[in-house]
Amino acid sequence: DAVVASNFIRNIIDEDARTGKWQGRVETRFPPEPNGYLHVGHAKSIHVNFGLARDYGGVCHLRFDDTNPEKESTEYVDSIIDAVQWLGFSWEKDGNAHLYYASDYFEKLYGFACLLIERGHAYVDSQSADEMRAARGSLTEPGKPSPFRDRTPAENLDLFARMRAGEFADGEHVLRAKIDMASPNINMRDPVIYRIRHAHHHRTGDAWCVYPMYDFTHCVSDALENITHSLCTLEFEDHRPLYDWFLDRLAEAGQFARPLPQQIEFARLKLTYAITSKRKLIQLVQEGHVDAWDDPRLPTIIGLRRRGYTPSAIQLFCDRIGVSKADSWIDMSTLEQALRDDLDPVAPRAIAVLDPLKLIVENFPEDGREPCSAPVHPHHPERGQRDFVFTRELWIERDDFTETPPKGYFRLFPGNKVRLRYGFVIECIGADKDADGNVVAVRCRYFPDSKSGTEGANTYKVKGNIHWVSATDAVAAEVRLYDRLFAEPQPDAGGRDFLQALNPNAKRTVRAFVEPSAGALAAEARVQFERHGYFVADRRDSAPGRPVFNRAVSLKDSWGK
Ligand code: ATP
Ligand code: MG
Ligand code: MG
Repeated sequence: DAVVASNFIRNIIDEDARTGKWQGRVETRFPPEPNGYLHVGHAKSIHVNFGLARDYGGVCHLRFDDTNPEKESTEYVDSIIDAVQWLGFSWEKDGNAHLYYASDYFEKLYGFACLLIERGHAYVDSQSADEMRAARGSLTEPGKPSPFRDRTPAENLDLFARMRAGEFADGEHVLRAKIDMASPNINMRDPVIYRIRHAHHHRTGDAWCVYPMYDFTHCVSDALENITHSLCTLEFEDHRPLYDWFLDRLAEAGQFARPLPQQIEFARLKLTYAITSKRKLIQLVQEGHVDAWDDPRLPTIIGLRRRGYTPSAIQLFCDRIGVSKADSWIDMSTLEQALRDDLDPVAPRAIAVLDPLKLIVENFPEDGREPCSAPVHPHHPERGQRDFVFTRELWIERDDFTETPPKGYFRLFPGNKVRLRYGFVIECIGADKDADGNVVAVRCRYFPDSKSGTEGANTYKVKGNIHWVSATDAVAAEVRLYDRLFAEPQPDAGGRDFLQALNPNAKRTVRAFVEPSAGALAAEARVQFERHGYFVADRRDSAPGRPVFNRAVSLKDSWGK
């Protein structure tokens, strides 16, 4: 139903449809490495890959690129599955689950590597890592061939089998593709395709001590799964010749039929005031700069969820930023605005007093209860009314009262009249103070014929309109006021120490009072607190009757203003 903007990837798919290249098939994949929690950048990739498959009647595979045993775990696998499902996507098609693990291909990958060796396309190199690095050359200098480059296939096959059998220590040998040490593209200078790692793998256990490298694993996995369009981010552009080289060699050897999967690169998401590197996110969590992986300040998908983001807000954001070949920064306000636009039409309204100050209505009876109400949603009368009561003691916001009003201040000060929204007009008559001179309560008188919605209301002309809750009926709530995690737009640009850019005020917790309708909300319900913004009942800590709210986003973009 949403209008889908075209982009260069859709143009490629449309052209393939026209020429019949894939006979109408569109098969993509989202290939995370299970070495951390997914973040908003991955959400873009998920929307691109799963979104294209959905729109073209194809399927998108979820494939774990799990070839680095030391850094990966099932905790990460599970979290990734949850995140993709929460975003609203599925890897099922016609009753088949397209959920794959690169580690399931270890035996096949090993066989393909042997085939490359037999055909003279790979060799075992026994130089040290330092020697190999030194021999790689540079952009201006060709690399130097390894002294082991001309080992015979028989010798290589034997060494590779012994590598697999565990005869050697980590780093003693590697398997390299034999391509071109003088290539202007350094990725083509005999890249490593297998290394020795005596490490326990979260799925294959101790079955392997040689592990394939990304560039070899990725293209082979795509071909094994019949992927048509292999979408990745721009930094892999220089790896595309290698992607094609491996698949061409294996196709020549009769292993894969043409057409072979096509790698297409798009710009990665860079979001201001945030960090989208799993490594740096791990650092923030492990060093305790945030509370957990789902800390609402983090741009992880579970962090966004806990912050109050909805799958549809993230969809809207991805639609708005689009897909292109040009790297650019997206402003955090684009993400925040997508959330406002998503929640505004649906979030029920309620009142919360975040910095409570007692207001005593002197001429209102001690045990009086005057019923009041307000619409659940101002544009949806069919959603009914919220009910609450007006009592002698109320809570108002501390900054809605001042003894010394600056020019243009229309809220409460001695002698001034304001409307208590959905209630009565009151006149301030003074304030109580403690021994230090702090205001501890404000005193007022109300006008019984001024109730909102009654005829008498119109005869009162007041400029100020403030919100309130009944001190007798309101529900005490913990409210976490979140702000951006970083105080600078590009916290890690140019290799800077991003910890220096942390915003120390990104989390503030207050004791608030909310109207009864909000106090009864279920965990993860979203609500607009009038004048304050959009909030979510925390999915871990909140329960009806003892609510905990997270501020998802303020009502207006006032950042830095
Ligand atoms: P990181 O550097 O944070 O570890 P990654 O690219 O190594 O990220 P992967 O798990 O390999 O993480 O990512 C899975 C997919 O998500 C890849 O196709 C990758 O290109 C894509 N992706 C990762 N980060 C972004 C981003 N910021 N914008 C768009 N796509 C991204
Ligand atoms: Mg990666
Ligand atoms: Mg990475």
